[in-house]
Amino acid sequence: MRILISGAAGFLASHLTDLLLSQGHEVLGIDNFITGKAENVKHLEDNRKYKLVKGDVIDPTVVAAVDGPVDRIYHMASPASPIGYVKHQVLTMKVNSQGAWNLLELAEARKGRFLMASTSECYGDPLVNPQNESYWGNVNSIGMRSMYDEAKRFSEACTMAYHRERNVATRIIRIFNTYGPRMDPYDGRVVISFIRQALNNEPLTVFGDGKQTRSLCYVSDLIRGINLTMESDFVEPINLGNPSELTILDIAKEILALIPESKSTITFQAMPPDDPKVRCPDISRAKKILGWEPVVTRREGLGKMIEFYRETLSKK
Ligand code: NAD
Ligand code: UDP
Repeated sequence: MRILISGAAGFLASHLTDLLLSQGHEVLGIDNFITGKAENVKHLEDNRKYKLVKGDVIDPTVVAAVDGPVDRIYHMASPASPIGYVKHQVLTMKVNSQGAWNLLELAEARKGRFLMASTSECYGDPLVNPQNESYWGNVNSIGMRSMYDEAKRFSEACTMAYHRERNVATRIIRIFNTYGPRMDPYDGRVVISFIRQALNNEPLTVFGDGKQTRSLCYVSDLIRGINLTMESDFVEPINLGNPSELTILDIAKEILALIPESKSTITFQAMPPDDPKVRCPDISRAKKILGWEPVVTRREGLGKMIEFYRETLSKK
């Protein structure tokens, strides 16, 4: 197949590209590099089945300029860390609205299949835990996460509208916190921040009292789930994440235990506004529809990630 990936130089899309190329497909990536990095896909430079275009999917002319057949479109482009989306508020709103819209138009025109990378942030600060897909969420529509949460919610509505009215083949995934190599060391997300801090012997910055929870999925598990969703025939949203829930303080302790030479301590800093107090995916739907569940343990996944950053951070 010929596959278009938006946000192709980002953390998740670069791993997705590796999987799709290994399956024998041709991949065309588009990225404007606002949060992604060319080095994430540098290893693909000489791959004849891969092409990366610098461009912004918010611009309809950039999307319309994609020529030839397009069998699949993965819309992965969007700032994804709280620091990233607050820094790029308007662009975050636009890439998940106008950007999704442009790519849905392309999917309709080329009769391709479209997958929207949505997020657990659609559930906001959830009042039920774990979250299943029928929960409508608890989102502050004007808060410091609203540019991301509401834009992603719009993207889901937009995807369903193109499916219902225009018969576009669409898929929606709600991604829960995912970690692994190629995350931007400075984008502020918790796992990469703690690993960078521990390797650099700096204090690990736990926000609030660290009792808020998250559930961490290793990147290879998630990418497999994304691909299975695309190739399934299920249209409604599917949660993808690892249901093993723990507190942020415990994440800090686990990372320190895996880097025994670190001289880092733990410090506590102010809790950012609207930070969800709990988050854990109910993955019953993914299990039933896709036969998918994560297989990489945290010890294994964190271990691989730490090895990657031992190498790459020491070169910087
Ligand atoms: P990332 O920042 O590493 O990747 C996003 C990529 O999109 C970057 O390369 C960036 O330059 C590109 N981009 C942004 N706006 C663009 C635009 N207008 N045109 C073209 N390219 C653009 O983030 P990630 O963690 O790889 O996230 C990928 C997708 O998955 C995002 O849509 C994000 O919302 C979603 N997601 C990720 C997680 C996670 O835990 N990693 C969780 C929930 C949802
Ligand atoms: N967090 C933290 N210290 C950091 C970065 C994040 O304690 O240096 C906390 C943050 O307050 C949140 C959780 O870790 O409760 C996950 O944050 P992240 O930015 O990775 O993603 P989120 O799940 O909030 O979108």
